[in-house]
Amino acid sequence: LESLAVVDPEIADVLAKELGRQQSTLEMIASENFVPRAILEAQGSVLTNKYAEGYPGRRYYGGCEFVDIAEELAISRAKSLFGADFANVQPHSGAQANAAVLAAIAQPGDTILGLELAHGGHLTHGMKLNFSGRLYNAVAYGVDPETFRIDMDVVRAKALEHRPRVIIAGWSAYSRQLDFAAFRAIADEVGAILWVDMAHFAGLVAAGLHPSPVPYAHVVSSTVHKTIGGPRSGFILSNDESLFKKLNSAVFPGQQGGPLMHVIAAKATAFKLAAEPEFVDRQERTVRGAQILASRLTSPDARAAGIDVLTGGTDVHLVLTDLRDSEIDGKQAEDLLHEAGITVNRNSVPFDPRPPMVTSGVRIGTPALATRGFDDAEFTEVSDVIADVLTPGADLGSARERVRALAERFPLYAGLGPSGQP
Ligand code: PLP
Repeated sequence: LESLAVVDPEIADVLAKELGRQQSTLEMIASENFVPRAILEAQGSVLTNKYAEGYPGRRYYGGCEFVDIAEELAISRAKSLFGADFANVQPHSGAQANAAVLAAIAQPGDTILGLELAHGGHLTHGMKLNFSGRLYNAVAYGVDPETFRIDMDVVRAKALEHRPRVIIAGWSAYSRQLDFAAFRAIADEVGAILWVDMAHFAGLVAAGLHPSPVPYAHVVSSTVHKTIGGPRSGFILSNDESLFKKLNSAVFPGQQGGPLMHVIAAKATAFKLAAEPEFVDRQERTVRGAQILASRLTSPDARAAGIDVLTGGTDVHLVLTDLRDSEIDGKQAEDLLHEAGITVNRNSVPFDPRPPMVTSGVRIGTPALATRGFDDAEFTEVSDVIADVLTPGADLGSARERVRALAERFPLYAGLGPSGQP
C-alpha cells in the first residue's frame, strides 16, 4: 500500500504538474469543469475494485450489496433532479451513452438527422468516421447563414425530405437555447423518435436556467462532467417505460461490461450537489459570465479589431468567437490565449473560410471559472484580458500578470494532494 509517489514517481509527477497547471491558469474550455473534493474522493475510492455487471438487485456478481446502494442513489437523484421517470447512470462517457441510445432506437442503416458537425453538432450525431456515421445513414440540418441560429423551418424541411427514424437535438458548440416543443412537433409529424443530447447544457437545465428537454424528448442523454461539474461520464433519461427497457439493455449488455462503480458513486454525489442552492448560484454566474464575455467581444473596440460573436451573444455557458474578419485565426487565438494563461479551444465557425486545423473561431466557456468562484467583476476582468489578447499587437506579458492575479485570488484545490486526498 505504498503511495503513488513511491510506486510510480513519473506518473506522480504528471499529476503534480497537471494540478499546478489547473491552479495557475484560467480554464475556459466550455466542456470542462472542476469537480469538488467530495467527487475526487468517491472516484479515487475502493469502489474501483468492484465488478457489478447487471443492474441493482439483478447483478451477475456477488458482493454488490453496497455498490447497489450507490447506483440506486445515483438513479433516484438523477430522476428527481431532471423530473424523469427512468434513469440509466451506467454509461462510461457521453459517447457511450449516445451509442446505447442509437442502438436502442434505430437499426443500422436507418436515417438519423442531427446538427451538422461543422455547425456545432457532435461526432456521435452522425460524423462519417464515428460509429454514428458508419452504422447509420446520417443527414444533417445546419444553422442559418445570416443569423447562425437553428431555423426550425429548415429542420422541418430536412425532416420531411429525409423522413428520419431519429431526430437529434443537441450540440457541442451553439450559444442559444433549443425549442424542444418544436423539435417534438416535427418528430411527431414525420414519425421520428426525438433524442436530445443535453451533454453541454445539462447543468443549466438542472438549475432551471434552460428549458428541460425531458417532457418533450423520447430519450435524453448527457454527460456529467461539463456544466454539471461531476465525474467524467454519461447518463440517459426517459419517461417511456418500454423504451427504457431497450435503453437499459443497450447499455448493458449491449455496449458495456462492468459499470464503473466508483464513477457511479461520484455521479450520485454530483446529482446531490446539483440539487442545492449553491449549484443554482454557480450556474447563474456561469451564464452571466458568458454574457459579459459576449458583450465585451462585441464592443466597438473589439469589432474594430475584427472580433465578433456568433449570434451576437449567448443564452448559455459559452461564447463562439467569430474571427473571420480578424488577421488572427482560431489557431493563433488559441495559442495566444494559452501564452497568456487562458485555456480555450479553437473551433470552426459555420461556413468557415479557413481549414479545420486553423479555423476562424474560438469556443470560450465559463463553467470552470464559475466553479472556481468567479462573479461578474472577475468575468469582466477576464473578458477584458481576452479582448486585449485577441487584438493584434497585444502585450502578452501584462495579460499573463492579470491572469496570474485572478488565479491567485481564487485558489483551486488548496491543501489537497494531487490525487485529491488531503
Ligand atoms: N455529446 C455532446 C453534445 C458533447 O459535446 C460531447 C462531448 O464533447 C459528448 C456527447 C461526448 O462526451 P464524452 O466526451 O464523455 O464521450
